[in-house]
Amino acid sequence: MVKVLVCDRVHEEGLNLLRKANIQVDLKPNITQEELEKIMASYDGVVVRSRTRITGELIEKASNLKFVCRVGIGVDNIDIQKARTCGVKVLCTPKATSQAVAELTIGLMVAVARKIAYADRSVKEGKWEKNVIKGFQFSGKTLGIIGFGRIGIKVAKIAKAFGMKILVYDIVFDNKTRKEEVSEPPILEDEDIIQEAERIKALEEVEGEIVSFEELLARSEVISLHVPLTKETKHMLGEKEFSLMKKKPIIINTARGALIDEKALHEALKSGKISGVGLDVYEVEPPKNLEMLNLPNVVCTPHIGAQTEEAQKEASIEMAKKILRFLDKPEIKLHETI
Ligand code: NAD
Repeated sequence: MVKVLVCDRVHEEGLNLLRKANIQVDLKPNITQEELEKIMASYDGVVVRSRTRITGELIEKASNLKFVCRVGIGVDNIDIQKARTCGVKVLCTPKATSQAVAELTIGLMVAVARKIAYADRSVKEGKWEKNVIKGFQFSGKTLGIIGFGRIGIKVAKIAKAFGMKILVYDIVFDNKTRKEEVSEPPILEDEDIIQEAERIKALEEVEGEIVSFEELLARSEVISLHVPLTKETKHMLGEKEFSLMKKKPIIINTARGALIDEKALHEALKSGKISGVGLDVYEVEPPKNLEMLNLPNVVCTPHIGAQTEEAQKEASIEMAKKILRFLDKPEIKLHETI
């Protein structure tokens, strides 16, 4: 019987599909890295979300492992290169959670611009700061989207409906970039890859303007990050970049914490180089810098971008389908046991 270890909390719907296919599904949603190291070798497959790190070391030791499935996208917690050299297939479900993340991004934008979290606390404390709490509206403002992929496109479409001007910076539009430098995870299946025509159509729909990274920083009143965490994108917003921001923008990060140098972010908030920030993700999770997070112009959520009933259900079903399709490959011996 095929044995799958589920390391993080995953919606039941997809797990039931695996069970129906006669797969043994062991649930250990709070498993520690140490426990995982001890038991991973006895499993054919491992299912994770963003919490569990599947390191190269773990992969090397897991002699029976055939696949790792990331429920969702953002595969920076998996050593893809090591998996490839060890013949371990990495699967993910990139499409299922995009809408949920895009909606949270917009939610954070509104929350920062209108100081919703502060206002909520203030009313609950019995205050009535109507004349003190003043925000700004999005209509006519410029939104700079860094990473015009699945989520960036959805954010742009909603922001367009607010009447925002959309600027786009994405490596795929950068003529200086060689094709192989584009960091689309190499594990994606054709059905998950955004085709060029689709991207161009979306760009036209939102009347987006492609700009350089520096121009986006200089012109945007809101900046939203939607790139994967790679060695090129790590700390892509740091001290230098904050000083290039001419419009004192608000920044939203629902992608990955390490895209922003948090020390520099803290300084930029204190010095007023930026007006506020909405964060769903952090360099270290849970985050440690509570001094920064408690600033009044910071709104934060605990990495809940994909945490909607709909997204989790869809991602779990997609996970099961991908695993079953993978196991069905004739060259995989496990086929007979399904
Ligand atoms: P995607 O692959 O569809 O889009 C990413 C875009 O970034 C692509 O268009 C790519 O060309 C571009 N890009 C890559 N490297 C770049 C670089 N160096 N400079 C500029 N552009 C670059 O990904 P997606 O599905 O839109 O997801 C974006 C990110 O959101 C994920 O990688 C993940 O880290 C994050 N995410 C977070 C949550 C959450 O819970 N908060 C949930 C899902 C995804």
